[in-house]
Amino acid sequence: MAERIIPIVEQRSGALPAIVPQGAAASRGHVRDTLGRELRDLRISVTDRCNFRCSYCMPKDVFNKDYPYLPHSALLSFEEISRLARQFLALGVRKIRLTGGEPLLRKNIEQLVSQLAALRTLDGKVPDLTLTTNGSLLARKAQALRDAGLSRVTVSLDSLDDAIFRGMNDMDFPVAAVLAGIEAAHKAGLEHIKVNMVVKRGTNDHEIVPMARHFRGTGITLRFIEYMDVGSTNGWRMDEVMPSDDVIRLLQGEFPLVQLSASSPGETARRWGYADAGGRHDPSLGEIGVISSVTHAFCGDCNRARLSTEGQLYLCLFAQHGYDLRSLLRGQASDADIASAIAQIWGGRSDRYSELRSELPPDTSGHPMRRVEMSYIGG
Ligand code: SAM
Ligand code: SF4
Ligand code: SF4
Repeated sequence: MAERIIPIVEQRSGALPAIVPQGAAASRGHVRDTLGRELRDLRISVTDRCNFRCSYCMPKDVFNKDYPYLPHSALLSFEEISRLARQFLALGVRKIRLTGGEPLLRKNIEQLVSQLAALRTLDGKVPDLTLTTNGSLLARKAQALRDAGLSRVTVSLDSLDDAIFRGMNDMDFPVAAVLAGIEAAHKAGLEHIKVNMVVKRGTNDHEIVPMARHFRGTGITLRFIEYMDVGSTNGWRMDEVMPSDDVIRLLQGEFPLVQLSASSPGETARRWGYADAGGRHDPSLGEIGVISSVTHAFCGDCNRARLSTEGQLYLCLFAQHGYDLRSLLRGQASDADIASAIAQIWGGRSDRYSELRSELPPDTSGHPMRRVEMSYIGG
């Protein structure tokens, strides 16, 4: 029998809980939401802490020493995360991404990686296991992560200019250490390394071309992310968003590019390949991606569930509340109960915030809705 799920708000937010419909749901097999979107991708935040203070994510004036970070007892243990991940895989998830906060700050993260790598998808395959990191600890950890079974890694890097990068991470952390992390990941055998650059107009947009030049032909895919209005603390303004179409136009002035098709359903990035003299994609030069969450919403095939650091299930990056799976884990629920609960929650999903954002008039109330922070829910 499915347990009753009590949706709860993030403990730091004041949003009202929603009601989940009750009823039996499958505990194995693919599940679709109300818009027909299949659950395929699970992002797990393993910590709400970070050693950077990127202003677009964890601005220093909010995330200071008085910020109520989660106590250790609130965090899901590795066993709890693995148990939940197993239920998600039984419902058709194929890809698991560890994130945060800074995931490499979680002690013995490689142990979690090896536990997750031992799980199997519905069709008996090893899950596609990846991680997003700011790269600060990667040089030290890359080999252990690879040995534990991590398949891929995405490193965030917003500039090659040391002064700009130190300013953007707001902890005076140097570019060279992140580049050393990327190099270590490559040497350790992590495949398909990606680099994420959040573009903030007026802050690092002049770094777009140098970043592209640096990573072109290295086998590393650089992805330009539109600065998003996620969370409630980053003081987001539309005039600081550089639309991806402008990024592509700028790059095309330097390097010929050809558009590529999506490599998997629900892929967040639109792909462009560097072209040869004949105008065809030259695989040896590689590709770039643009993630246009603001100007080209991709909710239509969004297949991602997010598990917060304390075990709440979020159905959208912009959600105001999550569903408390931790209380099921720490209660009497069986694996089948938990899977059935997840299926039921996903089955009721209708979130499509980015699409609605462009349809709704701007909020001029002066009291914007409180949304969950990216560092808590995971990017
Ligand atoms: N700390 C790790 C990192 O920075 O890679 C993982 C967590 S971070 C929240 C995940 C991704 O979200 C990063 O690539 C980061 O650049 C991106 N991100 C954070 N805040 C953002 C925002 N306001 N707009 C767009 N991307 C953002
Ligand atoms: Fe930390 Fe990543 Fe957020 Fe930057 S984007 S503050 S590195 S969690
Ligand atoms: Fe998915 Fe929500 Fe982003 Fe749309 S806004 S793509 S539903 S996470």
